Amino acid sequence: MDWTTYLLTTVALFVFITLRYLAIAGFFYWALWKRPGNLLRARKLTDITPPPQLIRSEIKWSVIASAIYAVPGALVLEAWKVGGTAIYMDISEYGWVWYFASVPVYLFIHDTYFYWTHRMMHHPKIFPIMHKVHHESRQPTPWAGFSFHPTESILGAAILPVLAFIIPIHVSGILFILVLMTIVSVTNHSGFELLPDRLLKGVIGRNWISAAHHNLHHQRYTCNYALYFRFWDRVMGTDRLEMEYEFLRPATAAAALESGKPGG
Ligand SMILES: [Zn+2]
Ligand SMILES: [Zn+2]
Repeated sequence: MDWTTYLLTTVALFVFITLRYLAIAGFFYWALWKRPGNLLRARKLTDITPPPQLIRSEIKWSVIASAIYAVPGALVLEAWKVGGTAIYMDISEYGWVWYFASVPVYLFIHDTYFYWTHRMMHHPKIFPIMHKVHHESRQPTPWAGFSFHPTESILGAAILPVLAFIIPIHVSGILFILVLMTIVSVTNHSGFELLPDRLLKGVIGRNWISAAHHNLHHQRYTCNYALYFRFWDRVMGTDRLEMEYEFLRPATAAAALESGKPGG
């Protein structure tokens, strides 16, 4: 490998990943926390206002994480140029069925990896070293999207590059996943639920993780560990959502609570 090219690619990717983070996090921070009025019709999840020093720290760790992500990212990019990865250009190589199936397969593997490494990082011996930084945001802001200690960033950055060498995926599929990942990280830490109630209470909200779900993880620590899907939290009994928020509580449960009240 040509080390100068690799170094230049790493620097270029670092700049690109940082700008992508700043643009997406900056937009949501402005639209949700700074702009008067409710531009995105989002629901604020707690009354906590994160202090400016927390936001500065979220940005600092996120920029460091962007540099860490660039290292394996550049390796994949350089290997791809010489045809050494499983990323392909011609859809007909694997057909349309795999073109559409490959993205959910990637997301599910990533989600599984995230759930179990995340649970491992909550072990009392590992938590202070790897994961405490992320939980300093008790009420995160959009800037917390990549706010991880470098050890956590390295662990998190490993999975997609490994998959890119093993499981065939079209170049547009991998780009879609990278953009989705950034938007999901930023919005799930935004402190606001962006999905309208209709979607949140429907099939999407019952299976897909949104801000309300991940915000509870930052408040409670012992539930809602997953990244994209509620699957592993459900299987392992760590899923909390509907009963925790008044606006999501099913009507029957709300009525039961109401009738249980003294004098009710
Ligand atoms: Zn988080
Ligand atoms: Zn955690």
